[in-house]
Amino acid sequence: MTQALKVTVVGTGYVGLGTAIMLAYLGHEVVGLDVDQAKVEQLSGGELPIYEPGLDQLLLDSMERVRWTTDYETAIPDADVIFICVGTPPNKDGSPNLKYVAQAARSIAQNLNGKTQVIVNKSTVPVGTGDWVARILEEHAREYHANRYLVVSNPEFLREGTALFDSLYPDRIVLGSDHAEGIERMKTLYAPLLDQSFTPPAYVPRPEGYTRPELVSTALSSAEMIKYAANAFLALKISFANEIAGLCERVGADIGEVARGIGSDARIGPRFLAAGAGWGGSCFGKDTSALISTGLEYGYSMPILQAAIEVNNRQRSLIISKLQMHLHRLKGKRVAVLGMAFKPNTDDLRDAPAHDTIARLGDLGATVVAHDPVAMPRARREWQHLNYHEAASVQDALRGADAVIIATEWDEYRHQDWSAVTGGMRQRLIIDTRNILTTRPEGVTLEQIGRRQMAAQAAPELPEAQFSDGVVVTGIGVKELLGTPSGNLS
Ligand code: NAD
Repeated sequence: MTQALKVTVVGTGYVGLGTAIMLAYLGHEVVGLDVDQAKVEQLSGGELPIYEPGLDQLLLDSMERVRWTTDYETAIPDADVIFICVGTPPNKDGSPNLKYVAQAARSIAQNLNGKTQVIVNKSTVPVGTGDWVARILEEHAREYHANRYLVVSNPEFLREGTALFDSLYPDRIVLGSDHAEGIERMKTLYAPLLDQSFTPPAYVPRPEGYTRPELVSTALSSAEMIKYAANAFLALKISFANEIAGLCERVGADIGEVARGIGSDARIGPRFLAAGAGWGGSCFGKDTSALISTGLEYGYSMPILQAAIEVNNRQRSLIISKLQMHLHRLKGKRVAVLGMAFKPNTDDLRDAPAHDTIARLGDLGATVVAHDPVAMPRARREWQHLNYHEAASVQDALRGADAVIIATEWDEYRHQDWSAVTGGMRQRLIIDTRNILTTRPEGVTLEQIGRRQMAAQAAPELPEAQFSDGVVVTGIGVKELLGTPSGNLS
């Protein structure tokens, strides 16, 4: 039986929204607070401002225990636990911009009523921010009370697109505080997760074999560091795979096979070894830069993380190089870009590889036609500075195109009939930056990342000999199968 607590979640973006709805589902009384009036109105009307699979259903199932407001005065005084989930976007120099955290902390402070309350930093913030928030709370509270407001760091590890699954069945829950009472209240809050006593929603079933998350209880500063270190390591792993993929292209190895071979070593693990267009999204780039910038504050360099960023930047420009290798001058060429969101199952466009690709194509004089199954409405608002035409479907995007770039691995693209859909192109060139195609249709030139001979292996109905002579090494080193003469467009 859940001991229901009163919870206020400040900031209802990708993280705050998921947190608020999940806590309501677990049985707590939740208020979601945001300064964005339009967002609050939308939520109060039962509508989600973001795309996250299953979240609309979870909201429906939790409706009577969650309300939405812009009003700190009614949301803060009663709360047992107050989450800060506002954005921490990067400044130009890579350091995190903490102005939203400061504003939120000040607004919370002005409405604290003197009882012991737990204030939780869920936003990703540099080491030392918890102490700084505690100072803001004490200084701006109506009455000064040292150590009355217990600050806890509870970093978030959810992935957009699978946020519900990650929140209900996490690998671990990290709680950092220098106040034992703060940790104890958080354990009460998370009890249904820690002992997995809640009834799983039918649409996000508990995975077989999953028992319970590990509770990692630490000092405040360690919890803050854990979040950055985890994201930096994941970014590093992706960059490592991409660096090896580049060498695979040159020596004639296949990154898919290599990743499988090294990932099956339990010390390494198979995840985050997919070569592709590099990482994107609101976290990896921002958090890696933030860690480097924290290091600089202390005169401490972080060369491994610098290199991870460098590899990621190179990976993005590789997409255009592959295109140029076949089409040469891009001026006047028509290029379809499939996928705008930084990854599938989200409409989040922050730091999406497709953004840089569309911008660069525009600079080089190409006409861009873009498609995304869910992110186009958001792109209409957030990418007004880019020059591209929207396509209503993959077919429309490819009609008359000289090339298509698969920028996001949406299932819709994975399951496309590529043979049919490329029929309407002017030149049948696919740049598959996510390595999702498992066969190369007849007459199509296919560029992937760090791969060779995939079509021969995945098309058993064709005699092997037909392909074995067709392997050629292309300009930047990808071994590509050219089963028919028309396969080579360059
Ligand atoms: P977001 O930009 O989607 O949402 C932030 C929300 O905070 C917005 O709705 C904004 O209106 C609101 N806000 C800003 N100032 C406010 C204030 N003073 N009072 C009330 N509301 C305010 O951001 P996000 O993606 O949810 O990320 C939030 C934090 O969580 C960041 O620090 C991020 O690094 C971290 N994080 C994000 C993810 C992710 O996948 N998005 C995963 C883990 C951690």
